[in-house]
Amino acid sequence: MNLGAHISISGGVYKCFARAKELGANSIQIFVKNNNRWFSKPFTYQELEKFQIEREKHQPFSVNAHNAYLINLCSPKTDIEKKSISAMKDEINRCEQLKLHYLVIHPGSHLGIGERWGINKIAQNLNRIIEEMAETKVKILLETTAGQGTNLGYRFEQLRDILDIMKYKERFGICYDTCHTFAAGYDITTTGKYQQVMNQFDKIIGLDHIHLFHLNDSKYELGSRKDRHFHIGAGYIGLEGFRALINDKRFYNIPMVLETPKGENGKMDKINLKTLRDLRK
Ligand SMILES: [Zn+2]
Ligand SMILES: [Zn+2]
Repeated sequence: MNLGAHISISGGVYKCFARAKELGANSIQIFVKNNNRWFSKPFTYQELEKFQIEREKHQPFSVNAHNAYLINLCSPKTDIEKKSISAMKDEINRCEQLKLHYLVIHPGSHLGIGERWGINKIAQNLNRIIEEMAETKVKILLETTAGQGTNLGYRFEQLRDILDIMKYKERFGICYDTCHTFAAGYDITTTGKYQQVMNQFDKIIGLDHIHLFHLNDSKYELGSRKDRHFHIGAGYIGLEGFRALINDKRFYNIPMVLETPKGENGKMDKINLKTLRDLRK
């Protein structure tokens, strides 16, 4: 199974592989810099070399990135918008240096200006970024969100609308987060409901646009629009929903990573991964 978790890069980006091995993960997600800061110092040549050596040792392996939380591509504040664009470019560069395939991003928060305005702004900025970085390859995955506050991307239609405006369509895709979509109102608690949601996604965006899954149960109920990840099977989604997803043959080759609370020494990651593996028929 192409299964794993979000893994820390503290002490050096290459350290994610040893941590993943310890966990028994063959698919991971990392931050390519400190996720609570705008900028970090560039990777050194040695760091980059070490990363590839470690990666090689652990083949076959899927490693993808998630962008920093401060980035907001539709901030109505011009200085934050500017900073977000350059930070986003920095993230893309770092992914290129590490030779990663996917970079997950939260579309953005319009902060009260309006959803349509926000969607256009995000699309405009993404087009501009990719245009100015035409030599890069990493695919940007728009993540489904819970719709907390003024976050965009909580309706499949909003993600479709952004993708529709993209000039370089091959550079974009979707990361499906089970907790976020559930909190946004997409019910996958039974096999039947799961199929309905996937049919809906397929009709609006197309299932072939999903390149990564974030597997998280939800601490809050359906439609709460609260983004709180919880242990697999212990939240409001429950085991049946995850059983349906884990056994969906259409996604056997798609990497899936946990973003659930890790507990002491990452103990909970091991438990959550075992829960998911045990669901596979
Ligand atoms: Zn995310
Ligand atoms: Zn997520």
